[in-house]
Amino acid sequence: MAYVNENFLKLPGNYLFAEIANRVKAYKAAHAEQKVISLGIGDVTQPLAPAVIEALQKATLEMGAETTLRGYAPDRGYPFLLDAIVAGDFAARGMDIAQDEIFVSDGAKSDTGNIGDILSAQNLVAVTDPVYPVYVDTNVMGGRAGDLQNGRWSQIQYLPCTADNGFIPELPTSRVDVVYLCFPNNPTGTTINRAALKGWVDYALQNDALILYDAAYEAFITEDDVPHSIYEIEGAKEVAIEFRSFSKTAGFTGLRCAYTVIPKALKVKSLDGKRVSLNDQWRRRQATKFNGTAYIVQRAAEAVYLPEGKRQVQATIGYYHENARIIKTALEAIGMRVYGGVNAPYLWVQTPHKQSSWGFFDRLLNELQIVSTPGAGFGTSGEGYIRLTAFGKRADTLEAVDRIKGWAM
Ligand SMILES: *Cc1c(COP(=O)(O)O)cnc(C)c1O
Repeated sequence: MAYVNENFLKLPGNYLFAEIANRVKAYKAAHAEQKVISLGIGDVTQPLAPAVIEALQKATLEMGAETTLRGYAPDRGYPFLLDAIVAGDFAARGMDIAQDEIFVSDGAKSDTGNIGDILSAQNLVAVTDPVYPVYVDTNVMGGRAGDLQNGRWSQIQYLPCTADNGFIPELPTSRVDVVYLCFPNNPTGTTINRAALKGWVDYALQNDALILYDAAYEAFITEDDVPHSIYEIEGAKEVAIEFRSFSKTAGFTGLRCAYTVIPKALKVKSLDGKRVSLNDQWRRRQATKFNGTAYIVQRAAEAVYLPEGKRQVQATIGYYHENARIIKTALEAIGMRVYGGVNAPYLWVQTPHKQSSWGFFDRLLNELQIVSTPGAGFGTSGEGYIRLTAFGKRADTLEAVDRIKGWAM
């Protein structure tokens, strides 16, 4: 008899997006004549940069010739991409990260989800609330979450991020071994400044804690005091793993490429009291369970760092920023309180008159035919907010904004 991993049975269904889809479907069935616009999507809509396409085509042709065929990629990624990452993302900003501290992968979802493989089930884990659900669900799968009680896992520590604390989590007051931080944040679109991030690094240094830092939205940062990497903070190399992705940076959601930084200086304890390098453990894990990102995709990622690639990618990010500005301006004009959208493609909108997330979701759908994402779906502290995204096409964004103008919310 084969038995299932019981941890998986603890997971509730993916209620949030299934419920949104149900409500949108029901609305459309009853109002076939209405055009529904989604400001709920967390996926890109703009085409890949021409430099990326050119690199993909060139690499594809190489794969078709005996002399230039590439088989399995090197463990950590091709040196040409590691070079580009080290120079473009770290050296250029004064950080000293070495090639052998970087692991190229097929996505930050895989990496943030799989990192638990190399961490003990005994660790006490903290997440922000609201939160990117992957961090929580993968800890449930790993047996680190306890039981679900009133929407919260008994073994997970939740760090509320609300307007009151500027969406920056306060330092834990009881023991935490591993903490997930994501800045710029999904879903709130807000950021952490250097001083606050230093507070977290110092906390981790003092308490022997590990920070899992998700910087998937780094490319959207526009303000000076927002760190692009946790390694801008002194001491971070001893306590933090950083996750980066080409998905939002360069529209790679369908192409798949990301990387994770695990500094050599980062060590955690084993039960016999020794200090163990997580870089070594992750290398072993990846070599066993992952066989690399496609050569053509790594060439495509390399092109993001070319001067023309950089220009083109920046132009697309500028397009999404402009969408964010358009939506934010329209919402503020009718008196709504809007957070985020300046260093991220997400707007975190307070519902008016203390309406519930789902109540306000329904009103946007029924009265304006706009799809949002209820904040409560990302955690208890998301109640009273909805998330809107700037990833839409400009025409749809403008049409949505036209409907918002003059709306008595
Ligand atoms: C989109 C996103 C990612 C990127 O995931 P990929 O697997 O690289 O596409 C990572 N973290 C967060 C919080 C995200 O929203």
